Amino acid sequence: MPVSRPITIVTHPHCLAHDTGGGEHPETPKRLTSLLAKLQASPLKDTLTIVEPRKAERRWLTTFHDEHYLFRLEECALSGKNHIDHQDNQLCFDSYEAALLSAGSGLTGIDLLEGNENLVFCAVRPPGHHAESNLALGFCFLNNCVLAARYWQQQYGRRKILIIDWDAHHGNGIQSAFEEDPDVMYISLHEHPTFSFPGSGYAEESGTGAGRGTTLNIPMPPGADDQMVLNAFAKKIEPALAAFAPERIIVAAGFDGHRNDDMSGLAYSTELYGKFGKYMAAWAERFCQGKLLSILEGGYHLESLSDSATTYLTALSNHSSEEQPCSSPNT
Ligand SMILES: [Zn+2]
Repeated sequence: MPVSRPITIVTHPHCLAHDTGGGEHPETPKRLTSLLAKLQASPLKDTLTIVEPRKAERRWLTTFHDEHYLFRLEECALSGKNHIDHQDNQLCFDSYEAALLSAGSGLTGIDLLEGNENLVFCAVRPPGHHAESNLALGFCFLNNCVLAARYWQQQYGRRKILIIDWDAHHGNGIQSAFEEDPDVMYISLHEHPTFSFPGSGYAEESGTGAGRGTTLNIPMPPGADDQMVLNAFAKKIEPALAAFAPERIIVAAGFDGHRNDDMSGLAYSTELYGKFGKYMAAWAERFCQGKLLSILEGGYHLESLSDSATTYLTALSNHSSEEQPCSSPNT
């Protein structure tokens, strides 16, 4: 029997106060409540510790975001506007504070990981990977993964950071933050930009200047299934990872590639997220003394999101150091 390793869940009740206006908007508080309820009803519950994040401080927000944008975002929320930059980005009075807590979750998580913890999952909203330095996009306001990477580098001196993003959509904001930076590798596996929001993430986008080669985009055709993803892990992602050899890993953990999630045309199974868990745990063991930070991105079909995240975290928790991830390069 595998030994269950402890997992710290970083989450805050105020993340539920970010109101996207009801109606048809898919990025709802129920995403978090159903995910957390599922975790608490799972065998994993005895391994979980819940920790509340701090709000990300201004000095960390400005490692990526423009001051002007931060004022504009705060003003939009507090003045009662219902969206910023695009109708998709619905917000309310409480949204700025929720975004600060969501961004702060990565920082709090990193403090724990640099202490005694090994596995941290930030169950927060709003998500972050589409947010640009001066623009809200795709339900995202502050780029949680970018801010976490900068914090890890500047607060703890961890230089080489890998951000792996298996959300169904390309994390344009993460890519633009680091495309010229050789110290942060961004790997994104997403539905092909011809068919999918936000329209970036072609394979040819591989970084610029000194950062050439440390951006790896793997667009998947609509209908892509588990086997196609596992082949990409074995043939493209693992060699890139081995060549880069990160000191720390951040997972942009989106669950909207699930076959039941209509936000993408991808056809991943719930079990695939368990395989992601095995990969991430093995990589953390190999490169990062077992330390791994995962931050929730997308995932909009409530049951599939909850099941997939629970399957992912169960695989992380049950991983043992002798175990190999289940790659199948020849099939
Ligand atoms: Zn997504």
